[in-house]
Amino acid sequence: MKEIACKLLVIGAGPGGYVCAIRAGQLGIDTVVVEAVKPGGTCLNVGCIPSKALIHAAEEFEKASHWAAGDTPLGISVAKPAIDFGKTIAWKDGVVGRLTSGVSGLLKKAGVKVVDGWARFRDGKTVEVETETGTQVIRAEAIVIATGSSPVELPFLPFGGQVISSTEALALAEVPATLAVVGGGYIGLELGTAYAKLGAKVTVVEAEDRILPLYDPELTRPVLKSLAALGVEVMTGAKAKGLSKKGDALLVETGAGEKRIQAAKVLVTVGRKPLTEGWGLEEIDLDMSGRFIRIDDHCRTSMRGVYAIGDVTGEPMLAHRAMAQGEMVAEIIAGKSRAWDKRCIPAICFTDPEIVSAGLSPEEARTAGRDVKVANFPFSANGRAMSRLAEAGFVRIVARADNHLVLGVQAVGQGVSELAAAFGLAIEMGATLEDVAGTIHAHPTQGEAFQEAALRALGHALHI
Ligand code: FAD
Ligand code: NAD
Repeated sequence: MKEIACKLLVIGAGPGGYVCAIRAGQLGIDTVVVEAVKPGGTCLNVGCIPSKALIHAAEEFEKASHWAAGDTPLGISVAKPAIDFGKTIAWKDGVVGRLTSGVSGLLKKAGVKVVDGWARFRDGKTVEVETETGTQVIRAEAIVIATGSSPVELPFLPFGGQVISSTEALALAEVPATLAVVGGGYIGLELGTAYAKLGAKVTVVEAEDRILPLYDPELTRPVLKSLAALGVEVMTGAKAKGLSKKGDALLVETGAGEKRIQAAKVLVTVGRKPLTEGWGLEEIDLDMSGRFIRIDDHCRTSMRGVYAIGDVTGEPMLAHRAMAQGEMVAEIIAGKSRAWDKRCIPAICFTDPEIVSAGLSPEEARTAGRDVKVANFPFSANGRAMSRLAEAGFVRIVARADNHLVLGVQAVGQGVSELAAAFGLAIEMGATLEDVAGTIHAHPTQGEAFQEAALRALGHALHI
């Protein structure tokens, strides 16, 4: 049995773990990262990146389909488009491959040792890794748990055959003729929309009374409209019960009785759960916060020298939260004075149109006891949006009524994901409505709607 010692051991090389390891290496910390599957974790291999690649391919195909149908005011016409889906998936795999090998290169450049295999705690300072060449024991002064999360499985719809998780949905051999999506949250709607654009007949089954319950109805309304235009059937207040006897349909309990949804594939996207099993949590007996590992504002767990970051530590289960925690923990281990002091973690849903939310919504601000000014600016009054056929949606700003501090910014519209940086920066820098209104926003851009929303909150919007 081989043994090595290091100052820092990171378990899991997803966005949390690999960023932590890279930063630690840069800071001169002797670092080892253990990864069971592939560097990049869920996000790069079977999450953020491949899903956005598929969404992009679907958008392009749909655009071409509209042009072929003569359904565009732009005067463009083309022949009916076809798709070689195998080639699409190969292109997506190529993007993933370039990024994951990039991560391996960055780890190497930072002097981080990567051990391939499954790690398991022996005690709070020692981990055993099952590698291809036998068991490796690693002793470390500090250990970061970054094991991530996995899809939730429904007992009456176990994964296998035509019942798939997001991982299989990102690697299908062909576009299914019919697709039932159980769960109208992030993944269900992002991938459901993509497959609808690629030609599948998609039905979304959501247990709550509306889709994307995380976002307020004003933000989700344009998404619902576009789903209807794509021919996606959305069933809310509906619960999947299982497959039909023949296995060709999903049975769903609705307010109006049981329904059968014809489905070549059933994509189950009812959430993800922290990966807390199989790596010896019981050996170290950490305090938990519900299903997640409990951490403090330094990402310290209840055991000295053991930290946890990313999806295994709680909501929101987003890659950029994991990365920010990873960077912070590396600096803390290097002796720097850091604590979790972020004002917001922006969230984006890559539906059509996209939704962005940074900071507090009007309702959240009011619930927190704030007297607020709220204003929105529609893209129908924005020149750039009009010239891109992207008039659906708006930017909304939420600020304190007394001192005009920006508490939140939300937007729905085509391409608004790229505005998330400006929204996050404004909140993190403590901008006021006057700061946003007084910043020159380049013309013509959709970002001008942010400035106009601030002006409107101040009572003097210029372009509406
Ligand atoms: P993970 O990325 O899950 O990485 C954990 C790693 O640890 C894995 O590689 C795993 O193999 C390894 N591991 C686990 N246990 C062990 C062990 N015992 N030994 C060795 N290795 C181990 N987030 C966004 O912010 N934006 C998006 O657009 C987005 N899109 C998504 C789309 C899909 C389809 C999915 C599924 C997720 C998406 N997410 C998105 C969420 C995002 O992927 C996660 O929040 C992020 O990957 C969490 O990072 P992490 O480092 O905590 O864990
Ligand atoms: P989710 O939490 O976003 O949505 C799950 C949905 O399923 C909810 O609307 C819930 O009400 C519904 N649901 C639960 N049980 C159900 C049942 N039995 N029948 C019908 N509906 C049911 O979960 P997800 O879409 O699986 O995504 C998991 C996580 O991955 C997200 O929470 C997010 O953290 C991350 N993610 C982020 C992005 C992004 O940032 N763009 C994209 C994909 C995934």
